[in-house]
Amino acid sequence: MDFDLFVIGGGSAGVRCARIAAGHGARVGIAEDRFWGGTCVNIGCVPKKLLVQAGEYGAWAEDAAGFGWSIRKGPHDWGKLLAAKDREISRLAGIYRKLLDGAGATIFDARARLTGPNSLDVGGRTITAERIVIATGGHPTRLPIPGAERGIVSDDAFYLPALPKRVAILGSGYIAVEFAGIFSALGAAVDLVYRAPLPLRGFDHDLREALAEALASGGVTLHPGVTPERIEADGAGHRLLLSTGGAIAADLVFFATGRRPATENLGLEAAGVAVTATGAVVVDAHLRTTQPHIFAIGDVTDRLNLTPVATAEGHALADSLFGGKPRRISLENVPTAVFSTPPVATVGLSEEAAAARGKVDVYVSRFTPMRHTLSGRARRSLMKLVVDQASGRVLGAHMLGEDAPEIMQGLGIAVAMGATKADFDRTIGIHPTAAEEFVTLRTRTREAG
Ligand code: NDP
Repeated sequence: MDFDLFVIGGGSAGVRCARIAAGHGARVGIAEDRFWGGTCVNIGCVPKKLLVQAGEYGAWAEDAAGFGWSIRKGPHDWGKLLAAKDREISRLAGIYRKLLDGAGATIFDARARLTGPNSLDVGGRTITAERIVIATGGHPTRLPIPGAERGIVSDDAFYLPALPKRVAILGSGYIAVEFAGIFSALGAAVDLVYRAPLPLRGFDHDLREALAEALASGGVTLHPGVTPERIEADGAGHRLLLSTGGAIAADLVFFATGRRPATENLGLEAAGVAVTATGAVVVDAHLRTTQPHIFAIGDVTDRLNLTPVATAEGHALADSLFGGKPRRISLENVPTAVFSTPPVATVGLSEEAAAARGKVDVYVSRFTPMRHTLSGRARRSLMKLVVDQASGRVLGAHMLGEDAPEIMQGLGIAVAMGATKADFDRTIGIHPTAAEEFVTLRTRTREAG
């Protein structure tokens, strides 16, 4: 065999797996034909957060007046922002490649395809490997409606030549609400069109309500309970026709309607690797596919599509196969954040999911953050704990408000460790912060379950 391990895909999952396996002394090859660092680094988490931060500066310039500053918000230069973003992303992608090189992995800037259980075609070369890891990630999808080709997906959003004036975003998942905040903060008029009554299906109901309120008060026009039916030309722009009979005129229509695993033309049948009806690679608890020496990690398995989950899986798999440290990643109590404006962060169970399992005590606090008592911005935060009545364990922590992702990372440790409400209560707060609210929630709001 040419390699002990061959990794298909140089994203978060694949790079980590290849790097750690090579560090354990395995002979590792890795192929990537587009972006080293994958979606997260190039057309996902990292550039997205830079765009969110660009929007925040505009709001801060407005808010500063309440603190005595005379700052006039000038026009925003989209081209300058994208050029700065591109420089940073090239630097990061280069680092990813260097890390692999430094670890001793053999790098192929090529597309890889399985040709048999232990063989691959890598850019025209035949390669054999003892074990293979599929880490090809996923792609955003458009809804199958007439005129869909007129709309963009998140991959394209990072390369727009100019900031559109009117944006219609379809969907209300992570990507939809994040980009609604970005475009709105940078000055575009944003319409958010989604079929559910509230955005962020699966998240805690209070959080979803608070987010809908925050989006609306931030200037985003919400269209709940609506499905898009077709996109037509409208002068230089587009017209989005809706299930309600209404229409939205937009310069940009953005499909944020989910992602699908990248398993097409990978030769999975040739290798005996099964996929689900939606094209996700089927894996067991050890990340093994239906072919025991072939593994799959990250978004291509379509379970919990988050970068830190993908990297953790890549690391655990490399340690298990070559480091003499077999271990698994738990997909429970994974903290997550949506970088909406303001952001949402959560760990553990929503009130609804927890109440379905038994009686819970619910603590909710809504307040105006200190900064906005002076800034005058109409923005409220929400913090919430869901506590198991029998054991006192905190089953879920939820927040909408500035710094929510930063705060939730620490709470994630507490919740994963099984901290009780009493543990939260005996923790002294840091004053004055928003975070201290999580340890001073004294009065139960309601009981559920
Ligand atoms: P999501 O799965 O989060 O959301 C998809 C959206 O599209 C939902 O609002 C869904 O509606 C809607 N939708 C799907 N099918 C249809 C349809 N046929 N008609 C109308 N609406 C439809 O996908 P995203 O594209 O936002 O993101 C993909 C994944 O990437 C996320 O789930 C997350 O795992 C990951 N991600 C994580 C981020 C982070 O950690 N901050 C950031 C970005 C992405 P409904 O809810 O009603 O089904």
